[in-house]
Amino acid sequence: MFMFTRGRSFDGGRFLATPAPDSAAQPIRSIDAPATLRVPLAQADEPAAEPRVVTGQTVAANDLLGESPGGAGRVHSPVSGTVSRLARVDTPYQQDVPAIEIAVAGAGASEPSPGERTADAADWPAVGELLDRLGRLGVDLAESAWLWKVRRVDEIIISGLDCDPAQSAHLRTLTSYADEVVSTAAALHDVFGARRTWLVLDSARRRLLSALAEVARGCPVRVHGVVSKYPQGMANLLVRTVAGAEVPCEATPAAVAVWVTDACAMMDVFRAVVQEQACTWQTVTVAGDAVSSPGNYRVAPGSTIGSLVRHAGLAKTPRQIIVGGVMNGIAVPTGDVVLTKRTRCVTVRCDGVRAPSEAMACLRCGECQDVCPVGLDPRGLLELAERNRLELAVRRHPQVCLDCGLCDYVCPSSLPLMRGVRRCREHVSVR
Ligand code: SF4
Ligand code: SF4
Repeated sequence: MFMFTRGRSFDGGRFLATPAPDSAAQPIRSIDAPATLRVPLAQADEPAAEPRVVTGQTVAANDLLGESPGGAGRVHSPVSGTVSRLARVDTPYQQDVPAIEIAVAGAGASEPSPGERTADAADWPAVGELLDRLGRLGVDLAESAWLWKVRRVDEIIISGLDCDPAQSAHLRTLTSYADEVVSTAAALHDVFGARRTWLVLDSARRRLLSALAEVARGCPVRVHGVVSKYPQGMANLLVRTVAGAEVPCEATPAAVAVWVTDACAMMDVFRAVVQEQACTWQTVTVAGDAVSSPGNYRVAPGSTIGSLVRHAGLAKTPRQIIVGGVMNGIAVPTGDVVLTKRTRCVTVRCDGVRAPSEAMACLRCGECQDVCPVGLDPRGLLELAERNRLELAVRRHPQVCLDCGLCDYVCPSSLPLMRGVRRCREHVSVR
């Protein structure tokens, strides 16, 4: 049986309509790599890794392309081919990032097939060796530095909740790979000696909850349904709702010995440990009212957003491309921006795009404060940011903002509240 906590939740938040058609309805589809791939050496806003290949070198799928000093971040080749040059690309998170350009061997290279091994056949190593192996294969686990340090986790929360209503990568991964996710979660439970391990998804997905509970029968993984009020998928809110613990102000779940990860990360771990594959191809949701075939696609990092969108098809002329979903994503200027290992969602919209000039005076309705899941006053923080009174803003703890975008979403005056809160946060971080 799965467990369903009706009462425990968090203050604020908002129930959002699931976009139709549901991008989770289709099986995950693979997109062949383009003839030329430019694999970025930085996945988000961190410093770029250093190249470990030279022009003219032949590489095979899974070969190392670059690594950060000290080996903290590694980038591997998603395909076989020849390094044609060291290039520069724009990613959704940084401009002008170093990249390895690969002339892909054979037209239409697809994701390498996994080996025959199953989770039962895997020889799960102890914590130190496991983390070492995952690091070598470029699996980027949230809070991995903390895992390295403590090597002891009290609770593991694996989220099947997608952080944005447009995204369904975690939900679809659970639907397609229930055995792999559950067996990996059970193995990690034992490896880390966790007290409790949770697999969490929307309580409205009752058939999937029952199916997962059946898969998890007899193993230590607890399948758990939660009311999916946005932004329940954020790590600190999951800790409160599922583990019943409060993450202190400005801290991460590590502060209460909880490791929050997600279904897609479980598949990265499964592929690395069981199938000995480096972390390269990613599951990305393509959604939005301009897309004719929304769904989840396996894509090689270094592919352009334009090629992914073309594959999903356009039903209408797009007015905006957002990476990361409609609530708090990043609008990208062109389809030439390349995908990284961190990209989980691309939303292409033709309607509902509001110009900044449409912002009006605050109506003092209080909606932004009511929905804020961490109790901030976004209107007050925006006013302080606009009046450059950032020292006063510090006292209101803007750093606890989850970047959920809900204040922007509910504001009837279309005020750029999240931008104001971010400005206050940046001031706190540089003090
Ligand atoms: S202030 Fe931050 S946490 Fe609060 S609603 Fe706005 S984006 Fe979300
Ligand atoms: S939601 Fe918008 S209009 Fe309402 S109080 Fe907040 S800033 Fe003002």
